[in-house]
Amino acid sequence: AFSMHRNRILRLDEITSSKIAAGEVVEKPAMVVKELVENAVDAGATEIIVDVKKGGKKLIRVVDNGCGIHRDDVDLMFERHATSKIRKIDDLYKTISLGFRGEALASICAVANVEVITMQENDDYGVKIEASGGAIKNKSEMGAKRGTSIVVRDLFYNTPARLKFLKSDSVETKHISEIMGHLALSHPEIAFKYSTDDQMVFRTPGDEKLENTIFSIYDRTLIKHLFEIKDAFDFLKLRGYISTFDYTKGTKQQQIIFVNGRYVKSDVIKDAINLAYKPYLMHNRYPVCFLFLEIDPDKIDVNIHPAKTEIKFHDDGVLKQFIYTALKKAFNLQNQIPEVSLK
Ligand code: ADP
Ligand code: MG
Repeated sequence: AFSMHRNRILRLDEITSSKIAAGEVVEKPAMVVKELVENAVDAGATEIIVDVKKGGKKLIRVVDNGCGIHRDDVDLMFERHATSKIRKIDDLYKTISLGFRGEALASICAVANVEVITMQENDDYGVKIEASGGAIKNKSEMGAKRGTSIVVRDLFYNTPARLKFLKSDSVETKHISEIMGHLALSHPEIAFKYSTDDQMVFRTPGDEKLENTIFSIYDRTLIKHLFEIKDAFDFLKLRGYISTFDYTKGTKQQQIIFVNGRYVKSDVIKDAINLAYKPYLMHNRYPVCFLFLEIDPDKIDVNIHPAKTEIKFHDDGVLKQFIYTALKKAFNLQNQIPEVSLK
């Protein structure tokens, strides 16, 4: 029977509450990778090296050649709500690539062993910080080069309940690889090196060319089967690469869409893509596309929760029509549609 007896209210201790908060920011290794790589991007890195072991459960390492962290700030880096990126709430709404502000490193450090080595441009030496379970354990000076390297070991070692919810190493690796692909695609200007369990998965040239980035991440045979799409209408701008009719997949998984530089899941856009292709493909076969859409930020409701990839447009109809028409135009330019002869 339901008991009316209630416990008194108590404040959770700091360690418990930080573990709970951490669980919202990092649910799985792929989210750690995303947060660390986004930090490297924010730091202005031109080269980012990522390697993971055992699906990220054992080790996640992200090394960048970005600006580094000021030596007097390293203590703050693991504190919740400590950030160099926004100063007031308005700043948060101005940006569309919403991360958890000032929470990622604190959260990761609450549930893993973390080692950071960082150095700024004009410093003679770097700083190494070791932290675990939410606290800094050791800090020392050491030789380094400009940039930051972060190693996260034994994720969720102190939250067994979360650890139990992780999938197999290979499934977690797959999640990480998917996210790494999206991150690399949205930054063709950055050279990424990504490996799992000491095997190189991909390396992108960082030459700013989207097509070179695509080909270095995905199936090389795609080169012969992709063509460019470019269009604009009113507040919408589209560019990217789409597959020819002879190259199809059994799933829609390689229909990768970015809105204002951010990877999103959008059924509206996918519907438009598949509708445009439908007359030319066999039943249950789907094209491959890499589409980058720029939309006036006033026309979308970005889901404010940073972990979400869903996005809501004010006018789905206009968007769908735009994508559909853009694809049809691109098909025509590519002379893919057999001419109907009207004798
Ligand atoms: P946020 O990115 O939202 O500010 P984080 O917890 O991810 O919060 O990082 C905290 C701060 O640590 C950042 O604001 C930044 O100043 C610094 N930082 C983290 N990673 C890096 C990095 N790779 N290079 C330079 N600075 C970094
Ligand atoms: Mg961050």
